[in-house]
Amino acid sequence: MTTPQTPFYLIDRARLAANMAKMDRLRERSGARTLLALKCFATWSVFDQMAQSMDGTTSSSLNELRLGRETFAGEAHAYSVAWADHEIDEAVGYADKIIFNSLGQLDRFADRAQGIARGLRLNPRFSTSGFDLADPARPFSRLGEWDRARLDRALDRISGVMIHYNCENRDFDLFSGQLDRIESEFGGFLEKLDWVSLGGGIHFTGEGYPLDALADRLRAFADRFGVQVYLEPGEASITGTTTLEVTVLDILDTGKQVAVVDSSVEAHMLDLLIYRENAKLPQDGAHAYQIAGQSCLAGDIFGDARFPAPLKIGDRISVQDAAGYTMVKKNWFNGVAMPAICIRELDGTITTVRSFGYDDFRASLS
Ligand SMILES: *Cc1c(COP(=O)(O)O)cnc(C)c1O
Repeated sequence: MTTPQTPFYLIDRARLAANMAKMDRLRERSGARTLLALKCFATWSVFDQMAQSMDGTTSSSLNELRLGRETFAGEAHAYSVAWADHEIDEAVGYADKIIFNSLGQLDRFADRAQGIARGLRLNPRFSTSGFDLADPARPFSRLGEWDRARLDRALDRISGVMIHYNCENRDFDLFSGQLDRIESEFGGFLEKLDWVSLGGGIHFTGEGYPLDALADRLRAFADRFGVQVYLEPGEASITGTTTLEVTVLDILDTGKQVAVVDSSVEAHMLDLLIYRENAKLPQDGAHAYQIAGQSCLAGDIFGDARFPAPLKIGDRISVQDAAGYTMVKKNWFNGVAMPAICIRELDGTITTVRSFGYDDFRASLS
């Protein structure tokens, strides 16, 4: 078997299976249903595997909704910050449930969505996001309704709500305490509903997360209000499953040892730049390098790494955690070669499911 040409994203089905085993345990013990948030991860070649352990997908646009309907067995939830008039009938045609972001959107489109379950986004006005860019509770947030009188005006047309307020929350006690707050502030409203989605952002597949405590807490919430609970895990579904495989093209001494690789943070791991994080790189050994990208952006830097032996041109490096908010954001900046998409099957063989070339670059603009 020949190894694919770098750069490529490599999704590992065995690691995905480990996350899906936790997903199964959570669903079974809690009674909650889980929907993959496609905005985090939409690489549909592994949806066959994920659909065995998840109940469907949730979306943030008509395109994601349609992809979920076409490629992922199970329920398709439709959400958009704002549906356009020309989108709504098509969206209703794909969706099992449609969740409106505002009372205005519900008023406008409720009739055209009569045939399916309708919901509204509830903003509890607190969150666990430390970054205001991603904080749905930021001042003047447009993400959902919170006023009780406005929520009540929706009641005759909706059967549920979506409350997304967590962000990579690893702290079960914090989650549980915030759910207490939701129960006390919105309990009288929630008990009139059939379903409540608690959104994404709970890091329950992480090492050491108290999965059973989470499951029991979700079951208690469901029992108290008589609702079907949904979760919408994005990052938790695929965390730790995927690497970006790159090759060293040049080594420079700029006062620091810098290794330039055949990839780009801006083009292939953009989320790192947006949130000012370093890539997860090897950290064992005496030989230190800054790993940098091939684009002409001065700050196209993956981060610092350590290796047991000096790096050589042609060496392969694996960048960890390259699935969530990564493959969905890849772009053609600088025309850098687009990583192929490869899958390590359960028997260890590597399948290339998609590769990109000049024609794709050219076709991305006109
Ligand atoms: C982003 C998002 C998710 C997924 O969040 P993760 O942090 O990736 O789990 C789920 N639901 C909604 C409404 C979202 O906006």
